[in-house]
Amino acid sequence: MSTTIAPEKREFQAEVSQVLDIVIHSLYTDKEIFVRELVSNASDALEKLRHLQLTESAIHGPELPLEIQLSVDEEAKTLTIADHGLGMTREELHENLGTIAHSGSKAFLRNLEESARKESALIGQFGVGFYSAFMVADEVTVYSRSWRPEAESLVWTSDGKTGYEIAEAEEELSRGCRIVLKLREDCADFATTDRVRSIVENYSNFVSFPVMIGEDRVNKVEAIWRKKKNDVTDEEYNEFYKFSAKAYDAPRYRMHFNADSPIELNALLFVPTENTELWGMGQMEPGVSLYCKNVLIDDKPEGLLPEWLRFLRGVIDSADIPLNISRESMQDSSLVRKLNRVVTKRFLKFLDGEAKDNADKYREFYAKFSRFLKEGVVTDFDHREGLAKLLRFESSMTDPGTLTGFEDYLTRAKDGQDKIYYLAGTDRASVEAGPYLEALKARGLEVIYFLDSIDEYLLQHLREFDGKSLVSAASSEVELSDDASVETPGEPLGDEAMTALCEFLTTELGERVEKVAPGKRLVSSPAAVLAPAHGMSAQMRQMLQAMNPGEPLPPQKVELELNPRHGLVHALAAAREGNPELAKLAAAQLLDNALLAAGLLEDRVSLIDRGFRLMEAALKKSTE
Ligand code: ADP
Repeated sequence: MSTTIAPEKREFQAEVSQVLDIVIHSLYTDKEIFVRELVSNASDALEKLRHLQLTESAIHGPELPLEIQLSVDEEAKTLTIADHGLGMTREELHENLGTIAHSGSKAFLRNLEESARKESALIGQFGVGFYSAFMVADEVTVYSRSWRPEAESLVWTSDGKTGYEIAEAEEELSRGCRIVLKLREDCADFATTDRVRSIVENYSNFVSFPVMIGEDRVNKVEAIWRKKKNDVTDEEYNEFYKFSAKAYDAPRYRMHFNADSPIELNALLFVPTENTELWGMGQMEPGVSLYCKNVLIDDKPEGLLPEWLRFLRGVIDSADIPLNISRESMQDSSLVRKLNRVVTKRFLKFLDGEAKDNADKYREFYAKFSRFLKEGVVTDFDHREGLAKLLRFESSMTDPGTLTGFEDYLTRAKDGQDKIYYLAGTDRASVEAGPYLEALKARGLEVIYFLDSIDEYLLQHLREFDGKSLVSAASSEVELSDDASVETPGEPLGDEAMTALCEFLTTELGERVEKVAPGKRLVSSPAAVLAPAHGMSAQMRQMLQAMNPGEPLPPQKVELELNPRHGLVHALAAAREGNPELAKLAAAQLLDNALLAAGLLEDRVSLIDRGFRLMEAALKKSTE
């Protein structure tokens, strides 16, 4: 064989020393992740070898298994990670483990010098995985033989302080790398099988090559998210869901997709069957983990998806994410923001497709998960329109219990209709019994019913859809046309009498009304109050009152609209002159009734009391 060459000692390149210093002292908070780094280097080396096999015929040791072997020696306090990947030549050992070639890393170090405070944001943008071994070891030995047929068997050793040494191995090595860590005293527990196994299970479960401890394969679950959809069965998907989400149910939906731009990613997302927040179990924890090429980066990455998507389970894998990104720097990483945007958009599109293709199934999903979508509308401006599309509700044109959406609403809208009308209330029956619906219904205009208790809040944020503004049918903003086809029973009160009645009511009701006027919206009700266009809703007032107990709120001023054809309005006009005392009583009751119908009445005592007095007067009159 060749003549023995004397061991070669070299100092680390200056940058490497700096990196070592950072890695050992500040880069990683969890020491255990060095296992992840070394296993993923081994996996990369195997991956590269697999590629070489496609083009190279002369590869040393073609029979060697493509797997990663971990072993420990508790007594000697060593941990060994071995692979039969492509290995390294002498040149490559110098280059890869003695210098930092990566231009980005040099730039990083320059930046670090310029601004110490930016450290956490910059860290993780360069590859220094191998050096993490020195967080736990005071000596690292790399036995390496390249795949090239005539390659040397080499040993690289270093204490991670000043430099390293490369020597020829005493015996011929097989292809690949064997890295032996001589653990520091305080890190000796990494030389136990149990510890190593649990670290691999946590971070490297989906590595594409077998990770072995002795005869045992540790990583049992395949990274199916990086496979093609057609190559994965339903059972495999469901099993993966149960495993990764620690779930017992089956997934309700799954979305599996790959993208190359604007960012390379594989995503496999699941919607669970159950929404445990409905069971009063508190907020769900976000459940989509971030991987880089099958290796776990973070199982609860903040900012990876918007808060309202916390019910999703699964994996997002992007080769563009640096493996050793730190938790702190992840949140404000532009890569993570990009992933967030791309995946959220795709998921909304996916749900929209599901809603159209399988409405029944979507309905079931909606019944359990609509709160998340509504939370999204309120909190996530970027996706508001996409989310609004997914909302479902009953309307004046649906049967009870049947749901519709904004897009369907617009297909039924009248020519030139530039508004979307809605009414908010607690249940369909009371919304339909109120005075507001009739005029719109008579004109063939559809009115959406918002019946969920948080809809009021939703509507504060959702002001339009597809450029059409959302308007409450109870609001003074609603302008109605004279429509000859609308049947209105009875003769209208004369203009003069009407004006006099309005003046009387304005004076009589004083502070409580802004305006009293005849209107077109009412068909069978005598009067209705109109909420000012952007006034406070009943719920908002209640909330305000609860926040300021004991302090009366300023009186709410409303517009009162009268129906000039209604018998009660005629009678009130007559009583104004014939029996002013009774007319005053009736005026106050008219307003209270209208407020009650609108859900705006705050003082019920007066309403009841006055009701009795009016009854008494009516009964006395009828028996006189
Ligand atoms: P990164 O993996 O991010 O490039 P590392 O510091 O972890 O940075 O590794 C530096 C280089 O050393 C790798 O790019 C690779 O070329 C080489 N290397 C590390 N581990 C192995 C291995 N097990 N087999 C072959 N080459 C390796």
